Amino acid sequence: MSIERLQVLITGQVQGVGFRPHVYHIAHQLQLTGSVKNTADGVLVEIQGLLTDNFLAKLTASLPSLARVDGIKTKKTTLLPDEIDFQILKSDAGAVQTMIAPDTSICSACLQELFDPKSRYYHYPFLNCTQCGPRLTLTRNLPYDRHQTSMDAFPLCNECQRDYADPLNRRYHAQPTACVQCGPRLSHSMDRITDAISEGKIIALKGVGGYQLICDARNDEAIRKLRRRKNRDEKPLAVMFANVNSLHNTVLFDLQEEELLVSRARPIVLLKKHVSVNNVEMLSKSIAPGLSHLGIMLPSSPLHYLLFHALAGFPSEFNWSEKSIPNALVVTSANISGNPLIMDDSEAQDQLASIADLVVSFNRKIITRADDSVVRVVCKSPLFIRRARGYAPTPIKLPYAIPSTLALGGALKNTFCITRNDEAFVSQHIGGLTNKSTIEFFHESLIHWTRLLNVKIERIACDSHPDFYTSQLAHDYHLDIVPVQHHHAHLASVAAEHHIIQPALGLALDGYGYGSDGGAWGGELMLFDSFHIQRLANLSPIPHPGNDLAAREPWRMGAAVLHTLGLNHLIVERFSNEPRAHELATFLKSSARIPMTTSCGRLFDAASALLGLTPVSSFEGQAAMQLESLVTELDVLSNGWYFENGQLNLLPTLKQLLTLDPVKGANLFHGTLIAALTEWITTIAQRISNHIIVLAGGCFLNKVLAEGLTERLTQRGFKVYLPQQLPPNDGGLSLGQAVIAGTNSCV
Ligand code: ZN
Ligand code: ZN
Ligand code: FE
Repeated sequence: MSIERLQVLITGQVQGVGFRPHVYHIAHQLQLTGSVKNTADGVLVEIQGLLTDNFLAKLTASLPSLARVDGIKTKKTTLLPDEIDFQILKSDAGAVQTMIAPDTSICSACLQELFDPKSRYYHYPFLNCTQCGPRLTLTRNLPYDRHQTSMDAFPLCNECQRDYADPLNRRYHAQPTACVQCGPRLSHSMDRITDAISEGKIIALKGVGGYQLICDARNDEAIRKLRRRKNRDEKPLAVMFANVNSLHNTVLFDLQEEELLVSRARPIVLLKKHVSVNNVEMLSKSIAPGLSHLGIMLPSSPLHYLLFHALAGFPSEFNWSEKSIPNALVVTSANISGNPLIMDDSEAQDQLASIADLVVSFNRKIITRADDSVVRVVCKSPLFIRRARGYAPTPIKLPYAIPSTLALGGALKNTFCITRNDEAFVSQHIGGLTNKSTIEFFHESLIHWTRLLNVKIERIACDSHPDFYTSQLAHDYHLDIVPVQHHHAHLASVAAEHHIIQPALGLALDGYGYGSDGGAWGGELMLFDSFHIQRLANLSPIPHPGNDLAAREPWRMGAAVLHTLGLNHLIVERFSNEPRAHELATFLKSSARIPMTTSCGRLFDAASALLGLTPVSSFEGQAAMQLESLVTELDVLSNGWYFENGQLNLLPTLKQLLTLDPVKGANLFHGTLIAALTEWITTIAQRISNHIIVLAGGCFLNKVLAEGLTERLTQRGFKVYLPQQLPPNDGGLSLGQAVIAGTNSCV
């Protein structure tokens, strides 16, 4: 064995995650000399000694928990005979740290310190280390350094400075590190906060990515008050529990769902309600009325843990993982209907005074908002409903590099996407660009992300809808604009994350997208790649009375279907509670030109209304969610559909619903829809000899539909792809737009 010297370049998420101390540790253990530093490409290491092979093995065997290694390149280099130690060097001048990590829940080492009376972090709600804590939401600029974050207002005390400078300390270069001596302070005592919660009050609590409204999840009165004050009738609320062991009589979950719950991103996970949750007085019934699933999350910040500890009466011994803790908290974004989550302290004082009984703050500024992420497990993979805190800004790897493109996304559930080489950075969930505050949030975030990514945008992509805010904004950039058809973007987004580059079949099922013919599309079977789409077939159009109004008032779609079935005379009787039923029946009968839609989302609305479930929605998607919640066992009406000129028509099934109770109806509608789609797709796929199929669009948030269709198509020999890294709904559009625009500029 002889002494050698290696140069090692490590790329990926390796900066600002404790990577250099990790390298330093290993070099020390193996008695190697050399150095480590951050460069524009990643982390560059030089090692010299006897056991350089062991170094590489150890390096990858245990990575810091936030690190992700994409590549390691090594080369031999000239020995430096006089070198005597291993050093951490300053970053290269001009080297930009490639990206920051997402905000991450408290790590186990910090959690231990939080409840250790001997630790100087004991009960300090803002402790963190290189392995945990806020990142995206407090970083103003790169390179990721304390003075570029909102922690610049808190000079380190001597003890923190010592830890920060010690390469063998967990807080070595932990930019947001702080302690009770030098860090941010909470505005109220834990006693005061938990007393308020126990008294049934609503508190607004500043969190990592914005304010949250919190109340006791078992207090029906408190929740009704929250709903009343927030003007949120029935939309489900998320519930936070202290740990997994506290969930057993509330929801059902498997290992994979548990992994998501405890993952460092700590998303809200949709879980099936346990039967006993309705019998026992465990949770208020007004949390998710009419739905079979609950949104559950575990504490993500030290402050959340302190809250549960205080609610339990400050026990001195507290084992977070083993004990079941009865307290449960409703935790929901603090915003004024439709506006973005509030992050500013003075705005919170002004705007939340009418909702919260107590506004609890701390003096660290939030730089950019991030809502809680929401996921559910579908086909044994996570499916995003909303992607924000804990996931953004992790990039999605593209199958190939494209010129830097900014895709502006859609109108609702907006996200935007910026590409850099073969990486796509999709923003945190922004929301519906329908009001001034959300549009401001969009612009703030766009400026923030453009600054962090430091790329020169060459091309703009937007939806082909001419009236969307984002489509008009595209012109302000004075760059090439690529308008992308809505469903093409949905499908290309899923294809991009799975690296599918050949032409594939795509089934896009959603609420509304602007069609190539200007029509209201939303049930489309296409052949597509990153360049083209060919609309092979679609759901048979049904009347769409009142366009946007029809989405909010499913009874209108029920009436439209009755009219199409030749049962106009039943409209008034069936929807007797709707004051405008007579007017709509007359309009449908007498009007020569009623707008039509191929939307699958509107088909769900019609089915729900015909079963008497949700005549008027109090939140988007309510009708479809309630219908899905009722499914017990799929049932197929064998003559429930027919094909006409390649179009799929489900009117016979909708007619049958008129004779059924809601549970039977939900079973029949889902079962028949899945069977019909399978037949339809199989017939067309055989004709064009393509058996790769991509599923996209908001309807695939429906687990029954997504799993049922995937299973059937797989049995027929299809290779089926659902999105896993972005939501199937409009939150995923921007990635598809970016890939299409970027790919088209390559030829
Ligand atoms: Zn930590
Ligand atoms: Zn300190
Ligand atoms: Fe859509």
